[in-house]
Amino acid sequence: MATNERCAACGGPLLGNYYTLIDRPERYCHGCITTRLRCATCGSPLGDQHWKLHDGRQQCGLCHATAIYEPQVARAIFDETVSALVAYLEMRLNVGVAFRLVDAPTLEGIRAAGSSHPPRGFNTLGLYQRRGHIRAIYMLYGLPRLTFRTTVAHEYAHAWQGERCPLLSDHELREGHAEWVAYQHLRWLGCHKAAERMLTAPHPYRKALERLMALERQLGVQAVNPYMTRVE
Ligand SMILES: [Zn+2]
Ligand SMILES: [Zn+2]
Ligand SMILES: [Zn+2]
Repeated sequence: MATNERCAACGGPLLGNYYTLIDRPERYCHGCITTRLRCATCGSPLGDQHWKLHDGRQQCGLCHATAIYEPQVARAIFDETVSALVAYLEMRLNVGVAFRLVDAPTLEGIRAAGSSHPPRGFNTLGLYQRRGHIRAIYMLYGLPRLTFRTTVAHEYAHAWQGERCPLLSDHELREGHAEWVAYQHLRWLGCHKAAERMLTAPHPYRKALERLMALERQLGVQAVNPYMTRVE
């Protein structure tokens, strides 16, 4: 190992063992990986320069660099994402869905008061909820742009399921389909590396996504959504 390598958090020289995070080039010393606070978004040890959000989350420079803080910007990306899903995967909604950019305690409150999705213990980045006649996607503010887009695509898929296969009780199929829509959106954006990571990185919905990938191989991309409207 080159002797001029330095810890990405404290800048100290990496003399012995070093530590890395999955899919990230940064290397950290033992002290930083064990004691430093972690970025609320990506989990990397926070360096001396980091950003504190008003709801208490602390974010690393890399996440901050592309983070969506402004409601108008969030709205524009939300609309772009939905347009792409309608154009490419024909996921038009009849009733439609509202969009809200919220902070972490608000999102947690909505999650706790409503459905069981996503389950407790997940780092909740966004959620779709229908209460009475109000259908809305709630997204956490301050997410990096690509994370924001894939989460919007995932939650929009749940909104679509609510209209097109509302009685579908197979939880794994629902989540697998939402992940598959996010995966397709990344490919549509040309983010092939990020799409590939969804298939290789450890994630609670990995197995569900693999089931949908098998379905895609069997039916073809354009036949997956029609299939979803027929299963029970
Ligand atoms: Zn260090
Ligand atoms: Zn981060
Ligand atoms: Zn989901």
